Amino acid sequence: MALLNSQARQASADRAWAAISRFYEHCNNKKPGKKGYPRFQHDNRSVEYKTTGWKLEPDGKHLTFTDGCGIGTLRLVGNEKQSVATFPVQQIKRVRIVKRADGYYCQFCVQAQRRIEHSPTGRAVGIDLGLNAYYVDSDGNTVENPRHYRKAEQRLKRLHRRLSKKQKGSANRKKARKQLAKAYLKVSRQREDFARKTANALVTSHDLIAYEDLKIRDMVRNRHLSKSISDASWGTFLQWVKYYATVHAIPAIAVPPQFTSQDCSGCGTRVKKSLSVRTHICPACGLVLDRDENAAVNILHAGLCILFLMAFAGTLGHRGTSESSENASGQSAATRRSPRRKASKWAG
Ligand SMILES: [Zn+2]
Repeated sequence: MALLNSQARQASADRAWAAISRFYEHCNNKKPGKKGYPRFQHDNRSVEYKTTGWKLEPDGKHLTFTDGCGIGTLRLVGNEKQSVATFPVQQIKRVRIVKRADGYYCQFCVQAQRRIEHSPTGRAVGIDLGLNAYYVDSDGNTVENPRHYRKAEQRLKRLHRRLSKKQKGSANRKKARKQLAKAYLKVSRQREDFARKTANALVTSHDLIAYEDLKIRDMVRNRHLSKSISDASWGTFLQWVKYYATVHAIPAIAVPPQFTSQDCSGCGTRVKKSLSVRTHICPACGLVLDRDENAAVNILHAGLCILFLMAFAGTLGHRGTSESSENASGQSAATRRSPRRKASKWAG
């Protein structure tokens, strides 16, 4: 560590302090659940540089580290189309070297405004994230859950068994460990890729997205479902939805999850049902709908209500989303008098 560039040292100190202050903040605010006690980073696999200590060679394909750490020059491989050399050096704010199971990666943190001109579709949607399906939307469309982990489980188990049979400290054990790590890496990349593409497709084809504000951490604690929930990668998916919504400048609205699956999306009557009941049947208005689709319609209603209330309270301007709310319906949100009725029309 002694010879590491000062900014790199600074960056790791920053992260340590962030962890400590996060912990105290959680304690002071009496945050329910785990407080995130800072852990010592035994096998830290990354180094982060800010704007010094590295130099991008003129050919744009080599990166030299100029501090005394002895990393030297690295040749950058990877996608030609995503070459970092297309950005002015001033825009590169951070450079991070990360070790993964299949090699070393350089991450460049580039300061840039990403905007995509959203072509209005006139469609608003509510999504209900689930385990049977990845999500069901308020139009009744279903996106299948790819279950990457479940599919890879047999292979992972075999690799785990193989690893445990190898003698400790042997070269074969090292090899087996690497194979296992690579298999896990593959699963995580498949999840990430799917989450990202699905989120992009969702945002591109709608002008407003309402989703349930799930407490994923609480749900993962349910040990019967935790594997499946992690496998569904909702957290990553929602992050990408929010990201693309910002890039497209359309509203993505989080909705409190209470009663979304119980209430009737047609008349609002609360119809109690257990998890195993897959169909919503309303005794009051006779509506029969798939359980998740009913929830998705409720989520859309709630999202539009929130948008309406925000417009009504005049907070939209302060939050800088006023233009996006206009995009959502092609009219100013404040002139919409009955979001509920409007919603049912949209939902069909
Ligand atoms: Zn009803």
